[in-house]
Amino acid sequence: MTEHWEGCEEVHWDCRIAQLEKEIARLQEKLHDEMSQLEIATDLGNKRWVALNEIYENAEKHNADWCKRKAQEGLGI
Ligand SMILES: [Zn+2]
Repeated sequence: MTEHWEGCEEVHWDCRIAQLEKEIARLQEKLHDEMSQLEIATDLGNKRWVALNEIYENAEKHNADWCKRKAQEGLGI
């Protein structure tokens, strides 16, 4: 019968593998979370760019209220 103890990964290959698999799962979850945050930030950035571009392209065809509304849409306020 094999005995396990704190830090037995140093000598047990199967314990070392299990430890590494756990670490991989943890890192994958972290990566997933950070990718989601990046997606949200990118989406927000895109929205602002679209609004700014629309104001730049079409401002003279509209009035200040239209520009303000477009800016609000871009800022999400
Ligand atoms: Zn062990």
